[in-house]
Amino acid sequence: MTCIFCAIATGEAAARIVYEDDQALAFLDVNPLTTGHTLVIPRRHVTDLLDADGAWARLGPALEATAALLVERLAADGLNAFQASRPAAGQTVFHLHVHLLPRWDDDGLISVHSLRAA
Ligand code: 5GP
Ligand code: ZN
Repeated sequence: MTCIFCAIATGEAAARIVYEDDQALAFLDVNPLTTGHTLVIPRRHVTDLLDADGAWARLGPALEATAALLVERLAADGLNAFQASRPAAGQTVFHLHVHLLPRWDDDGLISVHSLRAA
């Protein structure tokens, strides 16, 4: 089965790259929720956090570097990071990825705390 994020990692598919190192890649989400919405992925294919086999730890430097550069370049007031594992959690692309969402005071986006069921 072809994986679009593997294709981005190898350069076969186009993406707006924000950051890369030997273990990980960060690129703009094609359908952004906020300006600068970025996905951070391991270069090696794993499906999700439940299949990560060490990949999560190897994402660390890329997550920290990408978060810092997004906030600095976009003059963001804050940032959300989230990850969905498996369809029950809303995952739609089955190559591990972390969403980084730059946030601004009064940007109108809901707080993650509103995910709590009523
Ligand atoms: P998920 O729903 O699995 O947590 O997130 C998948 C994300 O990947 C979505 O936000 C979606 O917009 C993004 N996405 C899906 N296909 C592509 C693509 O081909 N290129 C890029 N840059 N983002 C993609
Ligand atoms: Zn993949």
